[in-house]
Amino acid sequence: MQKKSDQYMIETKDLVYEYNRRDENGDIAEIVRALDGVSLKVKKGDFIAVLGANGSGKSTFAKHLNGLLHPTEGVVYINGMQTDREGNVLPVRQMAGMVFQNPDNQIISGIVEEDVAFGPENLGVSTEEILLRVEESLKQVDMLPYRKHSPNRLSGGQKQRVAIAGVLAMHPQCIILDEATAMLDPAGRKKVLEIVMRLNKEEHITIILITHYMEDVTEADYIYVMKEGKIATSGTPGEVFEQKKILQDCALELPTATRIAQLLNEADIPVGDGILTMEELADRLDKLRG
Ligand code: ADP
Ligand code: MG
Repeated sequence: MQKKSDQYMIETKDLVYEYNRRDENGDIAEIVRALDGVSLKVKKGDFIAVLGANGSGKSTFAKHLNGLLHPTEGVVYINGMQTDREGNVLPVRQMAGMVFQNPDNQIISGIVEEDVAFGPENLGVSTEEILLRVEESLKQVDMLPYRKHSPNRLSGGQKQRVAIAGVLAMHPQCIILDEATAMLDPAGRKKVLEIVMRLNKEEHITIILITHYMEDVTEADYIYVMKEGKIATSGTPGEVFEQKKILQDCALELPTATRIAQLLNEADIPVGDGILTMEELADRLDKLRG
């Protein structure tokens, strides 16, 4: 029989994390509580967004999901595995892959396909199998034609797609993207988001998309909003975007389309509620025109 926690890709209970800030003598000068009682459950195959302003604890949370950090208090389970149990470090890292903000810090090799091979090599995967995985992973991010290229010449968005391929080559069940679109131009951002959504829909990979852009999360199944290490609110995109006061307290801005829709409603042009994208806004305006 499966343990109950196996139903969830991610489960955190009362997660607390404290950084020790040290002075020049190496003595602890200050304790920073970056996570303060985070409890949540993510079902397998879900597309989850974590939204929050700078310093709200998003990256600290992300690093708990693939065992880069271990809780000060509380527990984190990844697919039923407690992350700070001995022997779980590698399985957790293989299960939940991470893509970071800066594409330049993630690419280590001089050739795209070697870079993608790096993860599975470290897992001890056979050479034959690695070749297959590299090809399959590069295909999934539409980067196969670049397999022999030098990553240096790629755009930021292309580099992030190579980083995603590197994670895919480890056959993860979950991918965590920590502000992975923040440094990209709009086209690069759109493409990376499209690929991530496709991996979720077609490959059923659980996605945790961490961002401070509300525009990026309109397609999420569920959103958690973080503030000062706590979950300030959560819900579907429609539910969360209606909570104007809380979003303001969390220093988050509504998607442009939602803001325009609210202004139009106030100006007695009744486009209605729950508008998240420019396409939806255009549709409603079209309907109004009759
Ligand atoms: P976010 O990713 O949302 O910007 P972080 O998780 O990076 O938030 O940071 C949460 C809090 O923890 C902030 O107050 C930050 O200053 C603090 N913090 C982050 N990393 C460290 C560190 N290595 N040492 C001390 N404090 C840190
Ligand atoms: Mg961060």
